[in-house]
Amino acid sequence: MGKTMQALVKKYPKPGLWLDEVPVPEVGINDVLIQVHKTAICGTDLHIWDWNAWAQKTIPVPMVVGHEFVGRVAAIGSNVFDLNVGDVVSGEGHIVCGRCRNCLAGRRHLCKDTKGVGVNRSGAFAEFICIPVTNVWHADPTIPMEILSIFDPFGNATHSTLAFPILGEDVLITGAGPIGIMATAIARHAGARYIVTTDLNPYRLDLAKRMGATVALNVKESSLAQVRAELGMKEGFDVGLEMSGNGAAFQEMLANMCHGGKIALLGIPSGELAIDWNQVIFNMLTIRGIYGREMYETWYLMQSLMKIGLDLSPVITHRMPYTAFEEAFKVMGSGNSGKVLLEWAE
Ligand code: NAD
Ligand code: ZN
Repeated sequence: MGKTMQALVKKYPKPGLWLDEVPVPEVGINDVLIQVHKTAICGTDLHIWDWNAWAQKTIPVPMVVGHEFVGRVAAIGSNVFDLNVGDVVSGEGHIVCGRCRNCLAGRRHLCKDTKGVGVNRSGAFAEFICIPVTNVWHADPTIPMEILSIFDPFGNATHSTLAFPILGEDVLITGAGPIGIMATAIARHAGARYIVTTDLNPYRLDLAKRMGATVALNVKESSLAQVRAELGMKEGFDVGLEMSGNGAAFQEMLANMCHGGKIALLGIPSGELAIDWNQVIFNMLTIRGIYGREMYETWYLMQSLMKIGLDLSPVITHRMPYTAFEEAFKVMGSGNSGKVLLEWAE
């Protein structure tokens, strides 16, 4: 093709990202080239910017980063039949092998060889991205583009929140980052009774409250025990959603679950973490690890939730042109934000 495009590139093995002119990706026969309209910054992108230990051992340099996006089909490979140029699409960022036991059984989200868009291969912070057609989500164009741009983390939130039945149940969400905030809204929409969402950051706790938390608890100021007493809860939380990656938050959660309580573990701890296994055993807890979202059951549910009135718009707090990426990463890194969007095209 020989054409070039603007892209945010991890160009050197050190902190930062660089706006660069790179080749527009080649479109293979099973691929879809997408003109990117909006992207969102994820915590993973902050780690790549910071060049932490995980990023150093994971990210090839140079590479275009980013995986949360929405755009329009710009070109299709010769094997692609069910998409047209101009269609609104988002993309599943986990590219699966198609050959392992789980893939063959149709459980693609459990693939043993997942490759991440913008992590192991070229990403979405660019004017164009190319992914296999099997990873393209043909979006309902009546859903706002901004919301479609955050379907990836919305998927993490949906997959975790709906991992266990929550109708009428009391739900504890530790961590009011963008995913915890969206999980709060989903749990409210899905009919939970009490939703207690915790964080240390007043900005984010305020968002959690607006999105439907019964109590947005600042763990620096009060405790789960106190909140439970105020709410008249006698037996602890039925469902826990760990969305902070913080060890103390997880330990507090374990101590406040009811007997037989169920925990979805999404937050990624920075290293090994000790817990009191007696709480797991004698309280008969179920702990389920969550990675990504289900292909494509979660995507289907997200679209349905939008159609039946789930309002996620408050979680998007900042919008900037891609050229202002340094400021966007700074805002995201400050913690005083929900989702921060970068705009690439109208
Ligand atoms: P985030 O880092 O923006 O949010 C985490 C929040 O937890 C922050 O607001 C922080 O203030 C809060 N926190 C820190 N210590 C706390 C404590 N002791 N108690 C309560 N809250 C505390 O992250 P995010 O983008 O919302 O993602 C949530 C988590 O999920 C992160 O750990 C992220 O790495 C992880 N994640 C996992 C997957 C997956 O597939 N498993 C996918 C995306 C993100
Ligand atoms: Zn596989």
